[in-house]
Amino acid sequence: DSKKAHNFIESLIKDEISSGKHTGKVVTRFPPEPNGYLHVGHAKSICLNFGIADTFGGECNLRFDDTNPEKESQEYIDAIRQDVQWLGYEWAGEVRYASDYFDAIYGYAVELIEKGKAYVCSLTAEQMAEYRGNLKEPGRNSPDRDRPVEENLKLFQDMRDGKYQNGELVLRAKIDMASPNMNLRDPILYRIRYAEHHQTGDKWCIYPMYDFTHPISDAMEGITHSLCTLEFEDHRPLYDWVLDNITPPARPHQTEFARLNLNYTITSKRKLKRLVDEGFVDGWNDPRMPTISGMRHRGYTPKSIRTFCDMIGVNKAGGTVDVGMLEFAIREDLNTRAPRAMCVMRPLKVTLTNYPEGQSETLTLPVHPQNEEMGTREVPWTRTLYIDRDDFVEEPPRKWKRLAPDQAVRLRGGYVMTCREVVRDGDGNIVELKCEYDPKTLGVNPEGYKPNGVIHWVSESDSVEADINLYDRLFNHESPDSDKDGDFVDHLNPESLTRLTGARVEKSLAQPRTDLPYQFEREGYFFFDESASDAGKLVFNRTVTLRDSWAG
Ligand code: ATP
Ligand code: MG
Ligand code: MG
Repeated sequence: DSKKAHNFIESLIKDEISSGKHTGKVVTRFPPEPNGYLHVGHAKSICLNFGIADTFGGECNLRFDDTNPEKESQEYIDAIRQDVQWLGYEWAGEVRYASDYFDAIYGYAVELIEKGKAYVCSLTAEQMAEYRGNLKEPGRNSPDRDRPVEENLKLFQDMRDGKYQNGELVLRAKIDMASPNMNLRDPILYRIRYAEHHQTGDKWCIYPMYDFTHPISDAMEGITHSLCTLEFEDHRPLYDWVLDNITPPARPHQTEFARLNLNYTITSKRKLKRLVDEGFVDGWNDPRMPTISGMRHRGYTPKSIRTFCDMIGVNKAGGTVDVGMLEFAIREDLNTRAPRAMCVMRPLKVTLTNYPEGQSETLTLPVHPQNEEMGTREVPWTRTLYIDRDDFVEEPPRKWKRLAPDQAVRLRGGYVMTCREVVRDGDGNIVELKCEYDPKTLGVNPEGYKPNGVIHWVSESDSVEADINLYDRLFNHESPDSDKDGDFVDHLNPESLTRLTGARVEKSLAQPRTDLPYQFEREGYFFFDESASDAGKLVFNRTVTLRDSWAG
Protein backbone atom coordinates (compact mmCIF):
# COMPACT_ATOMS: atom_id res chain seq x y z
CA ASP A 1 0.00 0.00 0.00
CA SER A 2 1.60 3.23 -1.14
CA LYS A 3 -0.73 5.54 0.77
CA LYS A 4 0.90 7.22 3.68
CA ALA A 5 -0.57 6.48 7.06
CA HIS A 6 -2.29 9.37 8.81
CA ASN A 7 -0.77 8.55 12.17
CA PHE A 8 1.31 6.04 14.05
CA ILE A 9 -1.68 3.97 15.07
CA GLU A 10 -2.76 3.58 11.49
CA SER A 11 0.73 2.47 10.47
CA LEU A 12 0.86 0.11 13.41
CA ILE A 13 -2.34 -1.57 12.29
CA LYS A 14 -1.12 -1.68 8.69
CA ASP A 15 1.96 -3.51 9.89
CA GLU A 16 -0.11 -5.90 11.96
CA ILE A 17 -2.22 -6.68 8.93
CA SER A 18 0.69 -7.19 6.56
CA SER A 19 2.54 -9.39 9.04
CA GLY A 20 -0.60 -11.42 9.70
CA LYS A 21 -0.63 -10.43 13.36
CA HIS A 22 -4.05 -8.93 12.87
CA THR A 23 -6.69 -10.65 10.81
CA GLY A 24 -10.35 -9.81 10.38
CA LYS A 25 -12.21 -6.64 11.03
CA VAL A 26 -10.74 -3.66 12.88
CA VAL A 27 -13.09 -2.70 15.70
CA THR A 28 -12.58 0.37 17.87
CA ARG A 29 -14.73 2.18 20.41
CA PHE A 30 -15.21 5.64 21.77
CA PRO A 31 -15.86 5.19 25.50
CA PRO A 32 -16.92 8.41 27.23
CA GLU A 33 -17.98 8.50 30.81
CA PRO A 34 -21.35 10.31 30.89
CA ASN A 35 -20.24 12.69 33.64
CA GLY A 36 -20.16 15.86 31.56
CA TYR A 37 -20.32 17.17 28.03
CA LEU A 38 -17.73 16.29 25.44
CA HIS A 39 -14.96 18.77 24.80
CA VAL A 40 -12.51 19.41 22.00
CA GLY A 41 -10.13 16.83 23.49
CA HIS A 42 -12.80 14.18 23.06
CA ALA A 43 -13.12 15.26 19.44
CA LYS A 44 -9.55 14.08 18.93
CA SER A 45 -10.42 10.67 20.34
CA ILE A 46 -13.63 10.50 18.30
CA CYS A 47 -11.86 11.39 15.06
CA LEU A 48 -9.15 8.86 15.82
CA ASN A 49 -11.41 5.96 16.77
CA PHE A 50 -14.00 6.49 14.04
CA GLY A 51 -11.27 7.45 11.57
CA ILE A 52 -9.31 4.23 12.16
CA ALA A 53 -12.48 2.19 11.75
CA ASP A 54 -13.23 3.98 8.46
CA THR A 55 -9.72 3.58 7.14
CA PHE A 56 -9.78 -0.17 7.64
CA GLY A 57 -13.40 -0.73 6.70
CA GLY A 58 -14.14 -1.69 10.28
CA GLU A 59 -16.49 -0.45 12.94
CA CYS A 60 -16.48 1.87 15.88
CA ASN A 61 -18.78 1.50 18.87
CA LEU A 62 -20.05 4.22 21.11
CA ARG A 63 -19.90 2.91 24.66
CA PHE A 64 -20.78 4.78 27.79
CA ASP A 65 -18.31 3.94 30.46
CA ASP A 66 -20.84 4.18 33.23
CA THR A 67 -19.39 2.78 36.42
CA ASN A 68 -19.72 5.89 38.62
CA PRO A 69 -23.47 6.31 38.89
CA GLU A 70 -23.33 9.28 41.28
CA LYS A 71 -21.56 11.46 38.74
CA GLU A 72 -23.44 10.40 35.64
CA SER A 73 -26.75 11.29 34.11
CA GLN A 74 -29.09 10.82 31.19
CA GLU A 75 -28.60 14.48 30.25
CA TYR A 76 -24.93 13.79 29.60
CA ILE A 77 -25.70 10.62 27.67
CA ASP A 78 -28.09 12.48 25.38
CA ALA A 79 -25.66 15.33 24.86
CA ILE A 80 -22.78 12.99 24.03
CA ARG A 81 -24.83 11.05 21.48
CA GLN A 82 -25.87 14.27 19.82
CA ASP A 83 -22.31 15.57 19.70
CA VAL A 84 -20.87 12.42 18.14
CA GLN A 85 -23.59 12.44 15.49
CA TRP A 86 -23.16 16.11 14.86
CA LEU A 87 -19.47 15.57 14.21
CA GLY A 88 -20.65 13.27 11.46
CA TYR A 89 -19.89 9.85 12.86
CA GLU A 90 -22.08 6.79 13.01
CA TRP A 91 -21.47 4.16 15.61
CA ALA A 92 -21.97 0.49 14.87
CA GLY A 93 -25.33 -0.85 15.99
CA GLU A 94 -26.91 0.39 19.18
CA VAL A 95 -25.26 2.57 21.74
CA ARG A 96 -23.61 0.39 24.35
CA TYR A 97 -23.12 0.78 28.06
CA ALA A 98 -20.51 -0.80 30.27
CA SER A 99 -23.46 -1.41 32.57
CA ASP A 100 -24.85 -3.80 29.91
CA TYR A 101 -22.02 -6.06 31.02
CA PHE A 102 -22.42 -5.85 34.77
CA ASP A 103 -23.66 -9.44 35.01
CA ALA A 104 -20.78 -10.69 32.88
CA ILE A 105 -18.26 -8.60 34.78
CA TYR A 106 -19.59 -9.98 38.04
CA GLY A 107 -19.15 -13.47 36.58
CA TYR A 108 -15.53 -12.75 35.69
CA ALA A 109 -14.91 -11.48 39.19
CA VAL A 110 -16.23 -14.77 40.53
CA GLU A 111 -13.95 -16.58 38.07
CA LEU A 112 -10.95 -14.69 39.46
CA ILE A 113 -11.97 -15.52 43.02
CA GLU A 114 -12.35 -19.17 42.13
CA LYS A 115 -8.89 -19.17 40.60
CA GLY A 116 -7.48 -17.64 43.77
CA LYS A 117 -6.75 -14.39 41.94
CA ALA A 118 -9.06 -12.04 43.76
CA TYR A 119 -10.04 -11.59 47.38
CA VAL A 120 -12.40 -9.61 49.53
CA CYS A 121 -10.52 -7.08 51.63
CA SER A 122 -11.74 -5.30 54.73
CA LEU A 123 -9.00 -2.70 55.09
CA THR A 124 -10.26 0.86 55.30
CA ALA A 125 -9.32 3.27 52.54
CA GLU A 126 -6.64 4.83 54.76
CA GLN A 127 -5.20 1.46 55.73
CA MET A 128 -5.21 0.37 52.13
CA ALA A 129 -3.28 3.46 51.09
CA GLU A 130 -0.78 2.82 53.84
CA TYR A 131 -0.39 -0.87 52.95
CA ARG A 132 0.12 0.05 49.31
CA GLY A 133 3.51 1.60 50.01
CA ASN A 134 4.94 4.04 47.54
CA LEU A 135 7.26 4.23 44.58
CA LYS A 136 10.31 3.79 46.79
CA GLU A 137 8.91 1.13 49.05
CA PRO A 138 7.09 -2.09 48.35
CA GLY A 139 3.65 -2.45 49.83
CA ARG A 140 2.54 -5.01 52.40
CA ASN A 141 0.02 -7.77 51.92
CA SER A 142 -3.43 -7.23 53.29
CA PRO A 143 -4.24 -9.53 56.23
CA ASP A 144 -7.19 -10.69 54.07
CA ARG A 145 -5.05 -11.66 51.11
CA ASP A 146 -5.05 -15.36 51.91
CA ARG A 147 -8.69 -15.61 52.76
CA PRO A 148 -9.98 -18.97 51.50
CA VAL A 149 -11.77 -19.03 48.16
CA GLU A 150 -15.07 -20.21 49.68
CA GLU A 151 -15.09 -17.34 52.13
CA ASN A 152 -14.28 -14.84 49.38
CA LEU A 153 -17.13 -16.18 47.26
CA LYS A 154 -19.52 -15.89 50.19
CA LEU A 155 -18.41 -12.35 51.11
CA PHE A 156 -18.54 -11.17 47.52
CA GLN A 157 -22.06 -12.52 47.23
CA ASP A 158 -22.92 -10.77 50.51
CA MET A 159 -21.49 -7.51 49.15
CA ARG A 160 -23.75 -7.87 46.16
CA ASP A 161 -26.72 -8.76 48.35
CA GLY A 162 -26.41 -5.52 50.27
CA LYS A 163 -25.18 -6.98 53.55
CA TYR A 164 -22.38 -4.42 53.87
CA GLN A 165 -22.22 -0.67 53.86
CA ASN A 166 -20.39 1.70 51.50
CA GLY A 167 -16.66 1.25 51.92
CA GLU A 168 -16.84 -1.71 54.29
CA LEU A 169 -15.44 -4.27 51.87
CA VAL A 170 -13.87 -4.27 48.45
CA LEU A 171 -12.85 -6.96 46.00
CA ARG A 172 -9.19 -6.78 45.04
CA ALA A 173 -7.07 -8.51 42.43
CA LYS A 174 -4.27 -10.59 43.89
CA ILE A 175 -1.28 -9.50 41.83
CA ASP A 176 1.88 -8.17 43.43
CA MET A 177 2.20 -5.81 46.40
CA ALA A 178 5.84 -5.22 45.52
CA SER A 179 5.31 -4.33 41.88
CA PRO A 180 7.10 -1.17 40.77
CA ASN A 181 3.84 -0.41 38.94
CA MET A 182 1.50 0.82 41.65
CA ASN A 183 -1.50 -0.19 39.56
CA LEU A 184 -0.54 -3.82 40.07
CA ARG A 185 -0.45 -3.65 43.87
CA ASP A 186 -3.65 -5.58 44.33
CA PRO A 187 -5.93 -3.02 42.70
CA ILE A 188 -9.56 -2.76 43.66
CA LEU A 189 -11.92 -4.50 41.24
CA TYR A 190 -15.25 -3.80 42.93
CA ARG A 191 -16.52 -1.41 45.54
CA ILE A 192 -19.81 -0.98 47.36
CA ARG A 193 -21.92 2.00 46.29
CA TYR A 194 -25.52 2.40 47.24
CA ALA A 195 -26.42 4.56 44.30
CA GLU A 196 -29.25 4.59 41.85
CA HIS A 197 -27.81 3.95 38.40
CA HIS A 198 -29.22 5.70 35.34
CA GLN A 199 -29.32 2.43 33.40
CA THR A 200 -29.58 -0.34 35.97
CA GLY A 201 -31.60 1.43 38.66
CA ASP A 202 -31.05 -0.16 42.05
CA LYS A 203 -30.14 -3.58 40.74
CA TRP A 204 -26.57 -3.21 41.97
CA CYS A 205 -25.00 -1.93 45.12
CA ILE A 206 -21.52 -2.95 43.99
CA TYR A 207 -19.86 -1.42 40.96
CA PRO A 208 -16.76 -2.58 39.09
CA MET A 209 -13.80 -0.22 38.76
CA TYR A 210 -12.82 1.30 35.42
CA ASP A 211 -9.65 -0.83 35.15
CA PHE A 212 -11.66 -4.02 35.52
CA THR A 213 -14.64 -2.91 33.46
CA HIS A 214 -12.78 -1.57 30.50
CA PRO A 215 -10.88 -4.64 29.28
CA ILE A 216 -13.93 -6.82 29.81
CA SER A 217 -16.22 -4.41 27.96
CA ASP A 218 -13.72 -4.27 25.12
CA ALA A 219 -13.59 -8.06 24.99
CA MET A 220 -17.37 -8.40 25.10
CA GLU A 221 -17.68 -6.13 22.09
CA GLY A 222 -14.89 -7.75 20.12
CA ILE A 223 -12.88 -4.55 20.14
CA THR A 224 -9.56 -5.23 18.43
CA HIS A 225 -7.81 -1.93 19.15
CA SER A 226 -8.55 -0.16 22.39
CA LEU A 227 -7.13 3.34 21.92
CA CYS A 228 -6.75 5.45 25.00
CA THR A 229 -4.82 8.40 26.25
CA LEU A 230 -1.32 8.30 27.62
CA GLU A 231 -2.22 8.43 31.30
CA PHE A 232 -3.44 4.85 30.90
CA GLU A 233 -0.09 3.54 29.73
CA ASP A 234 0.69 2.44 33.28
CA HIS A 235 -2.65 0.71 33.43
CA ARG A 236 -1.96 -1.43 30.40
CA PRO A 237 -0.28 -4.19 32.46
CA LEU A 238 -3.48 -4.39 34.49
CA TYR A 239 -5.60 -4.39 31.33
CA ASP A 240 -3.55 -7.32 30.12
CA TRP A 241 -3.57 -9.04 33.50
CA VAL A 242 -7.34 -9.00 33.60
CA LEU A 243 -7.70 -10.48 30.14
CA ASP A 244 -4.96 -13.04 30.73
CA ASN A 245 -6.51 -14.27 33.94
CA ILE A 246 -10.12 -14.67 32.86
CA THR A 247 -11.48 -16.49 29.84
CA PRO A 248 -12.59 -13.54 27.70
CA PRO A 249 -14.63 -13.94 24.52
CA ALA A 250 -11.97 -11.99 22.57
CA ARG A 251 -8.52 -10.53 23.19
CA PRO A 252 -8.33 -6.78 22.57
CA HIS A 253 -5.12 -4.78 22.97
CA GLN A 254 -4.63 -1.30 24.31
CA THR A 255 -2.58 1.38 22.55
CA GLU A 256 -2.00 4.83 23.98
CA PHE A 257 -1.81 8.22 22.30
CA ALA A 258 -1.24 11.72 23.62
CA ARG A 259 -4.12 13.73 24.99
CA LEU A 260 -4.94 16.98 23.30
CA ASN A 261 -3.98 20.01 25.35
CA LEU A 262 -4.89 23.37 23.89
CA ASN A 263 -3.48 26.62 25.16
CA TYR A 264 -5.89 29.23 26.54
CA THR A 265 -8.27 26.33 27.14
CA ILE A 266 -9.29 23.84 29.81
CA THR A 267 -9.91 20.27 28.69
CA SER A 268 -11.10 18.56 31.80
CA LYS A 269 -14.75 17.77 32.30
CA ARG A 270 -14.41 18.26 36.02
CA LYS A 271 -13.12 21.80 35.62
CA LEU A 272 -15.57 22.64 32.87
CA LYS A 273 -18.34 21.44 35.16
CA ARG A 274 -17.14 23.85 37.76
CA LEU A 275 -17.41 26.74 35.30
CA VAL A 276 -21.01 25.69 34.70
CA ASP A 277 -21.93 24.97 38.32
CA GLU A 278 -20.45 28.19 39.64
CA GLY A 279 -22.01 30.30 36.91
CA PHE A 280 -18.81 31.51 35.25
CA VAL A 281 -20.42 30.59 31.95
CA ASP A 282 -23.95 30.19 30.77
CA GLY A 283 -24.16 26.40 30.75
CA TRP A 284 -22.23 23.64 29.00
CA ASN A 285 -23.11 25.04 25.61
CA ASP A 286 -22.00 28.58 26.32
CA PRO A 287 -20.29 29.60 23.06
CA ARG A 288 -17.06 30.26 24.98
CA MET A 289 -16.85 26.70 26.25
CA PRO A 290 -14.44 24.30 24.54
CA THR A 291 -17.23 21.75 24.59
CA ILE A 292 -18.50 20.37 21.30
CA SER A 293 -21.92 21.84 22.08
CA GLY A 294 -20.40 25.21 22.96
CA MET A 295 -18.44 25.23 19.75
CA ARG A 296 -21.57 24.28 17.79
CA HIS A 297 -23.47 27.13 19.45
CA ARG A 298 -20.68 29.49 18.51
CA GLY A 299 -20.72 28.48 14.86
CA TYR A 300 -17.90 25.96 14.60
CA THR A 301 -18.69 23.45 11.88
CA PRO A 302 -18.14 19.69 12.17
CA LYS A 303 -15.82 20.00 9.20
CA SER A 304 -13.61 22.56 10.93
CA ILE A 305 -13.26 20.38 14.02
CA ARG A 306 -12.42 17.35 11.94
CA THR A 307 -9.90 19.35 9.91
CA PHE A 308 -8.35 20.57 13.12
CA CYS A 309 -8.02 16.99 14.40
CA ASP A 310 -6.34 16.08 11.11
CA MET A 311 -3.96 19.00 11.39
CA ILE A 312 -2.81 18.17 14.90
CA GLY A 313 -2.37 14.49 14.12
CA VAL A 314 -2.00 11.72 16.63
CA ASN A 315 1.22 11.27 18.52
CA LYS A 316 2.65 9.13 21.20
CA ALA A 317 4.15 12.14 22.96
CA GLY A 318 2.20 14.91 24.58
CA GLY A 319 2.42 18.62 24.00
CA THR A 320 0.24 21.67 23.79
CA VAL A 321 -1.46 22.80 20.65
CA ASP A 322 -2.01 26.47 19.89
CA VAL A 323 -5.71 27.31 19.96
CA GLY A 324 -4.87 29.52 16.98
CA MET A 325 -4.87 26.31 14.93
CA LEU A 326 -8.46 25.63 15.84
CA GLU A 327 -9.37 29.18 14.93
CA PHE A 328 -7.45 28.79 11.68
CA ALA A 329 -9.46 25.67 10.84
CA ILE A 330 -12.81 27.39 11.30
CA ARG A 331 -11.68 30.49 9.38
CA GLU A 332 -10.53 28.34 6.49
CA ASP A 333 -13.80 26.49 6.32
CA LEU A 334 -15.97 29.57 6.66
CA ASN A 335 -13.93 31.61 4.25
CA THR A 336 -14.86 29.21 1.49
CA ARG A 337 -18.43 28.48 2.53
CA ALA A 338 -19.93 31.23 4.67
CA PRO A 339 -22.50 33.44 2.99
CA ARG A 340 -21.56 37.12 3.06
CA ALA A 341 -23.77 39.76 4.61
CA MET A 342 -23.46 43.23 6.05
CA CYS A 343 -24.01 44.07 9.66
CA VAL A 344 -23.48 47.50 11.13
CA MET A 345 -22.47 46.92 14.74
CA ARG A 346 -22.62 50.52 16.02
CA PRO A 347 -24.96 52.33 13.65
CA LEU A 348 -24.39 55.95 12.65
CA LYS A 349 -27.10 57.46 10.50
CA VAL A 350 -26.22 58.73 7.03
CA THR A 351 -28.59 60.83 4.94
CA LEU A 352 -27.91 61.00 1.22
CA THR A 353 -29.06 64.53 0.65
CA ASN A 354 -29.18 64.16 -3.12
CA TYR A 355 -31.13 60.88 -3.12
CA PRO A 356 -34.88 61.47 -3.41
CA GLU A 357 -37.01 60.81 -0.35
CA GLY A 358 -39.18 57.68 -0.68
CA GLN A 359 -37.15 56.31 -3.56
CA SER A 360 -35.20 53.09 -3.42
CA GLU A 361 -33.37 50.73 -5.70
CA THR A 362 -32.30 47.17 -5.29
CA LEU A 363 -28.67 46.26 -5.54
CA THR A 364 -27.82 42.67 -6.28
CA LEU A 365 -24.76 41.37 -4.47
CA PRO A 366 -23.15 37.95 -4.58
CA VAL A 367 -23.72 35.70 -1.57
CA HIS A 368 -20.07 34.70 -1.92
CA PRO A 369 -17.60 36.70 -4.03
CA GLN A 370 -15.66 33.62 -5.18
CA ASN A 371 -18.53 31.21 -5.54
CA GLU A 372 -21.22 32.14 -8.01
CA GLU A 373 -23.14 28.99 -7.27
CA MET A 374 -24.13 30.42 -3.95
CA GLY A 375 -26.28 32.93 -5.79
CA THR A 376 -27.09 36.53 -5.06
CA ARG A 377 -28.84 38.61 -2.44
CA GLU A 378 -30.83 41.79 -2.74
CA VAL A 379 -29.70 44.85 -0.85
CA PRO A 380 -31.92 47.94 -1.06
CA TRP A 381 -30.31 51.34 -1.44
CA THR A 382 -32.28 54.22 0.11
CA ARG A 383 -31.86 57.83 1.21
CA THR A 384 -31.17 56.90 4.85
CA LEU A 385 -28.43 54.42 5.56
CA TYR A 386 -26.32 53.33 8.50
CA ILE A 387 -22.59 52.97 8.61
CA ASP A 388 -20.44 51.94 11.56
CA ARG A 389 -19.41 54.73 13.93
CA ASP A 390 -15.87 53.42 13.76
CA ASP A 391 -15.77 54.09 10.03
CA PHE A 392 -15.98 57.84 10.49
CA VAL A 393 -13.60 60.27 12.15
CA GLU A 394 -13.57 64.03 12.00
CA GLU A 395 -9.82 64.28 11.97
CA PRO A 396 -8.50 61.41 9.91
CA PRO A 397 -4.99 60.15 10.46
CA ARG A 398 -2.75 59.84 7.41
CA LYS A 399 -3.76 57.08 5.00
CA TRP A 400 -7.25 56.87 6.55
CA LYS A 401 -9.18 54.27 4.57
CA ARG A 402 -12.62 55.24 5.68
CA LEU A 403 -14.93 58.26 5.88
CA ALA A 404 -14.08 61.78 7.06
CA PRO A 405 -15.46 65.25 6.37
CA ASP A 406 -15.27 66.10 2.67
CA GLN A 407 -13.80 62.73 1.90
CA ALA A 408 -15.31 59.93 -0.14
CA VAL A 409 -15.74 56.21 0.43
CA ARG A 410 -17.47 53.50 -1.50
CA LEU A 411 -20.29 51.68 0.17
CA ARG A 412 -19.78 47.98 -0.51
CA GLY A 413 -21.73 46.93 -3.59
CA GLY A 414 -23.20 50.42 -3.92
CA TYR A 415 -22.17 53.93 -4.78
CA VAL A 416 -19.43 56.30 -3.71
CA MET A 417 -20.48 59.04 -1.29
CA THR A 418 -18.79 62.12 0.13
CA CYS A 419 -19.39 63.45 3.64
CA ARG A 420 -20.63 67.06 3.57
CA GLU A 421 -21.89 67.77 7.06
CA VAL A 422 -21.65 66.40 10.61
CA VAL A 423 -24.83 66.70 12.69
CA ARG A 424 -24.62 66.79 16.49
CA ASP A 425 -27.13 66.54 19.31
CA GLY A 426 -27.32 69.01 22.19
CA ASP A 427 -24.47 67.23 24.03
CA GLY A 428 -22.17 67.46 21.08
CA ASN A 429 -22.42 63.81 20.09
CA ILE A 430 -22.34 63.02 16.42
CA VAL A 431 -25.77 61.69 15.50
CA GLU A 432 -25.86 61.90 11.74
CA LEU A 433 -23.78 62.53 8.65
CA LYS A 434 -25.16 64.30 5.64
CA CYS A 435 -23.51 62.90 2.54
CA GLU A 436 -23.80 63.23 -1.20
CA TYR A 437 -23.75 60.11 -3.31
CA ASP A 438 -22.33 60.04 -6.80
CA PRO A 439 -24.93 58.44 -9.11
CA LYS A 440 -22.32 57.63 -11.76
CA THR A 441 -20.31 55.31 -9.51
CA LEU A 442 -22.29 52.08 -9.30
CA GLY A 443 -19.68 49.49 -10.22
CA VAL A 444 -17.37 52.10 -11.77
CA ASN A 445 -14.73 54.41 -10.37
CA PRO A 446 -15.61 58.07 -9.97
CA GLU A 447 -14.04 60.56 -12.35
CA GLY A 448 -11.61 63.08 -10.99
CA TYR A 449 -11.38 61.89 -7.40
CA LYS A 450 -10.56 58.74 -5.49
CA PRO A 451 -12.53 57.25 -2.60
CA ASN A 452 -10.58 56.29 0.53
CA GLY A 453 -11.79 52.75 0.64
CA VAL A 454 -14.82 50.52 0.91
CA ILE A 455 -17.03 50.32 3.98
CA HIS A 456 -20.10 48.29 4.81
CA TRP A 457 -23.55 49.71 5.43
CA VAL A 458 -27.25 48.91 5.60
CA SER A 459 -30.38 50.78 4.60
CA GLU A 460 -32.39 52.15 7.51
CA SER A 461 -35.77 51.01 6.27
CA ASP A 462 -34.57 47.72 4.86
CA SER A 463 -32.47 46.40 7.70
CA VAL A 464 -33.30 44.46 10.84
CA GLU A 465 -32.18 45.07 14.39
CA ALA A 466 -29.91 42.49 15.98
CA ASP A 467 -27.95 41.89 19.15
CA ILE A 468 -24.42 40.74 18.75
CA ASN A 469 -22.39 38.68 21.17
CA LEU A 470 -18.72 39.30 20.60
CA TYR A 471 -17.04 36.25 22.02
CA ASP A 472 -13.38 36.04 22.66
CA ARG A 473 -11.18 33.45 24.36
CA LEU A 474 -12.50 32.34 27.72
CA PHE A 475 -9.07 32.49 29.36
CA ASN A 476 -6.41 35.11 28.96
CA HIS A 477 -3.66 32.84 30.22
CA GLU A 478 -1.88 30.36 27.99
CA SER A 479 -2.16 27.51 30.45
CA PRO A 480 -4.93 28.45 32.84
CA ASP A 481 -4.59 25.31 34.93
CA SER A 482 -0.81 25.11 35.08
CA ASP A 483 -0.46 27.49 37.94
CA LYS A 484 -0.13 25.21 40.94
CA ASP A 485 -0.84 27.75 43.66
CA GLY A 486 -3.56 29.52 41.76
CA ASP A 487 -6.99 28.63 40.65
CA PHE A 488 -7.74 28.34 36.94
CA VAL A 489 -10.81 30.56 37.31
CA ASP A 490 -8.46 33.43 38.18
CA HIS A 491 -7.41 33.37 34.55
CA LEU A 492 -10.84 33.84 33.05
CA ASN A 493 -10.75 36.59 30.43
CA PRO A 494 -13.00 39.41 31.70
CA GLU A 495 -13.50 40.42 28.08
CA SER A 496 -14.56 37.02 26.83
CA LEU A 497 -18.02 38.41 26.06
CA THR A 498 -19.07 41.85 24.87
CA ARG A 499 -22.75 42.29 24.16
CA LEU A 500 -23.81 44.83 21.56
CA THR A 501 -27.42 45.81 21.24
CA GLY A 502 -29.00 47.75 18.43
CA ALA A 503 -26.82 46.49 15.62
CA ARG A 504 -28.44 46.32 12.20
CA VAL A 505 -28.19 43.54 9.66
CA GLU A 506 -29.28 43.61 6.07
CA LYS A 507 -32.82 42.55 5.36
CA SER A 508 -31.89 39.22 3.77
CA LEU A 509 -30.99 38.06 7.29
CA ALA A 510 -34.47 38.43 8.73
CA GLN A 511 -34.73 34.64 8.42
CA PRO A 512 -31.14 33.66 8.99
CA ARG A 513 -29.52 30.42 8.01
CA THR A 514 -29.09 28.02 10.86
CA ASP A 515 -26.60 25.68 9.23
CA LEU A 516 -23.62 27.97 8.77
CA PRO A 517 -22.34 31.26 10.15
CA TYR A 518 -22.25 34.36 7.96
CA GLN A 519 -19.28 36.41 7.19
CA PHE A 520 -20.28 39.90 8.24
CA GLU A 521 -18.07 41.81 5.88
CA ARG A 522 -15.06 43.40 7.54
CA GLU A 523 -16.20 42.14 10.97
CA GLY A 524 -15.80 38.40 11.19
CA TYR A 525 -17.92 35.27 11.20
CA PHE A 526 -21.22 35.29 13.05
CA PHE A 527 -23.68 32.50 13.75
CA PHE A 528 -27.38 32.98 14.28
CA ASP A 529 -28.30 32.06 17.84
CA GLU A 530 -31.64 30.40 17.42
CA SER A 531 -32.09 29.70 21.10
CA ALA A 532 -31.45 33.32 22.10
CA SER A 533 -33.53 34.92 19.38
CA ASP A 534 -37.23 35.55 19.59
CA ALA A 535 -39.78 37.04 17.23
CA GLY A 536 -38.65 40.60 17.82
CA LYS A 537 -34.94 40.15 18.04
CA LEU A 538 -32.17 38.42 16.18
CA VAL A 539 -29.06 37.40 18.07
CA PHE A 540 -25.77 36.54 16.41
CA ASN A 541 -22.71 35.06 18.08
CA ARG A 542 -19.25 35.85 16.84
CA THR A 543 -17.61 32.59 15.86
CA VAL A 544 -14.21 34.03 15.11
CA THR A 545 -12.67 37.25 13.91
CA LEU A 546 -11.39 37.56 10.34
CA ARG A 547 -7.79 37.60 11.50
CA ASP A 548 -6.00 36.30 14.54
CA SER A 549 -5.88 39.20 16.96
CA TRP A 550 -3.92 37.18 19.54
CA ALA A 551 -0.94 36.29 17.39
CA GLY A 552 2.09 37.92 18.97
P1 ATP B 1 -11.86 14.32 31.42
O1 ATP B 1 -10.60 14.43 32.20
O2 ATP B 1 -12.17 15.54 30.63
O3 ATP B 1 -13.00 13.84 32.24
P2 ATP B 1 -11.69 11.66 30.51
O4 ATP B 1 -10.56 11.02 29.78
O5 ATP B 1 -11.91 11.26 31.90
O6 ATP B 1 -11.55 13.21 30.34
P3 ATP B 1 -13.72 10.19 29.19
O7 ATP B 1 -15.16 10.46 29.13
O8 ATP B 1 -13.28 8.99 29.93
O9 ATP B 1 -13.03 11.50 29.73
O10 ATP B 1 -13.11 10.18 27.72
C1 ATP B 1 -13.56 9.37 26.66
C2 ATP B 1 -12.42 9.15 25.72
O11 ATP B 1 -11.92 10.40 25.26
C3 ATP B 1 -11.29 8.45 26.42
O12 ATP B 1 -10.81 7.42 25.59
C4 ATP B 1 -10.28 9.53 26.65
O13 ATP B 1 -8.99 9.03 26.66
C5 ATP B 1 -10.53 10.47 25.47
N1 ATP B 1 -10.13 11.83 25.81
C6 ATP B 1 -10.55 12.58 26.85
N2 ATP B 1 -9.91 13.75 26.90
C7 ATP B 1 -9.07 13.76 25.84
C8 ATP B 1 -8.12 14.70 25.33
N3 ATP B 1 -7.89 15.87 25.93
N4 ATP B 1 -7.42 14.36 24.21
C9 ATP B 1 -7.63 13.19 23.60
N5 ATP B 1 -8.50 12.27 24.02
C10 ATP B 1 -9.22 12.53 25.13
MG1 MG C 1 -12.25 8.32 31.55
MG1 MG D 1 -12.53 12.07 33.77
